[in-house]
Amino acid sequence: MEDTYLHKGLRKKLVEEIKQKGIKDQKVLDAIGKVPRHLFMDSSFTKFAYKDQAFPIGSGQTISQPYTVAFQTELLEVKKMDKILEIGTGSGYQAAVLIELGAKVYTIERQKKLMLKAKALLPKIGYNPHIFYGDGYSGLPSYSKFDKILITAAAPDIPEKLLEQLEIGGRMVVPIGSSYSQTMTLVVKTGESDYKKSEHGYFVFVPMLKGKV
Ligand code: SAH
Repeated sequence: MEDTYLHKGLRKKLVEEIKQKGIKDQKVLDAIGKVPRHLFMDSSFTKFAYKDQAFPIGSGQTISQPYTVAFQTELLEVKKMDKILEIGTGSGYQAAVLIELGAKVYTIERQKKLMLKAKALLPKIGYNPHIFYGDGYSGLPSYSKFDKILITAAAPDIPEKLLEQLEIGGRMVVPIGSSYSQTMTLVVKTGESDYKKSEHGYFVFVPMLKGKV
């Protein structure tokens, strides 16, 4: 579980790269600069850990591209002590970035293997989100409501049950579309059954699937 000067140097370069690509929020850039991404990847991939690319993490899933993580995080406008629900724990990297920003994180993963791996890794390197094995489409009604909801898999539409679990004034960031391409969508809840939606460019995520495996 080493974080060497080499890793730190590579991470600095990565932060510069995503800044060039348009990420402006200094707090988000600092968080990316702090989380040791190489520890979230299988050892055969660690030399790619600080490239701005998605990579396989097993079970047919990927750790998102750092730029994409930063982009979603920026749109979420995370504040200290925000209670955030993440759908798609995956490697746990995105959850760690949210924790660096001072959030309390609840995260759900439908792939048992990945959930267990993240649950073993995160506390070891100083991150303590609440990790759940389950279907993100149901959310966590007993822990709601949430200030922010972040979906890190491609949804066909705004998941209704998740919108219900968002505070009024809260923000949900969700890539919506087909399996080939999705529109990054920001949903701001303006009333019990009202929301405003805005679109923020195209991305490609693995699909948000029903049930758990
Ligand atoms: N946030 C992750 C990247 C996630 S990739 C990271 O930082 O590494 C998307 C993840 O969403 C995959 O692990 C996939 O298994 C999970 N997923 C897909 N559909 C889901 C659902 N309905 N509920 C919970 N997790 C889901």
